Amino acid sequence: MAFIQYAVIGLGRFGSSLSQELTQLGHEVLGIDRDEEKVDEMSDKLTHTVVADATDEEVLRSLGVRNFDCAVVAIGDNIQASIMAAILLKELGVKTVVAKALTDQHAKVLEKIGVDRIIFPERDMGVRVAHQLVSPNLLDYIELSKNYTIAELVVSRRISGLTLKELDPRAKYGCSIVAINKTDDVIIAPTAEDVLHEKDVMVVIGTKEQIDTFESRAIR
Ligand code: ATP
Repeated sequence: MAFIQYAVIGLGRFGSSLSQELTQLGHEVLGIDRDEEKVDEMSDKLTHTVVADATDEEVLRSLGVRNFDCAVVAIGDNIQASIMAAILLKELGVKTVVAKALTDQHAKVLEKIGVDRIIFPERDMGVRVAHQLVSPNLLDYIELSKNYTIAELVVSRRISGLTLKELDPRAKYGCSIVAINKTDDVIIAPTAEDVLHEKDVMVVIGTKEQIDTFESRAIR
């Protein structure tokens, strides 16, 4: 895994959780917040922490933020500060700028100023949990594009012991199993003869509808 330097601006619930996880994953993280208390709470958990106002260009410059590979603007309520910080980070030349948006309008502005990735933590999590509740065998999914999704589906007792040929999701539902994660091994590009066992995890690619139909008709 490449070693990446991150700057996280705003150490509220989202920013502090994100920055701690990045640190635990072995990356260097600079946490910035203008609230001294928030910074104190995180000071022994991140590589560096600093009390600073991220809407001040000179401050960001002196912190050397432009040398970071990725900066995340995790400022919550203050939309103006979030936009200002994002503009400055882009202007300073940070390669990847990620920002948390509160509203659609906020997201539109962030997009216009060239923010590379916009996240809506509560909204995104709501959508994710809804999918997991509706499809009990769905562990997680990634939207590859508007049309295509990669999903992790747990093998249920019902289909345990079947080969991929017997299950045949491509012919029956249009989606393909691209990998099977077993407790001790991962089978990449499985063949028709590979056998599924309960609790294996299938990595499936297809449209959302194909995967939903596969999950509800064949696995559940
Ligand atoms: P979360 O949902 O992540 O908890 P929140 O609703 O607590 O977010 P805020 O408190 O508005 O969101 O912002 C998150 C953090 O961003 C706060 O700790 C706040 O002090 C910090 N912050 C806000 N503006 C600035 C700024 N200009 N520079 C640095 N930090 C800032």
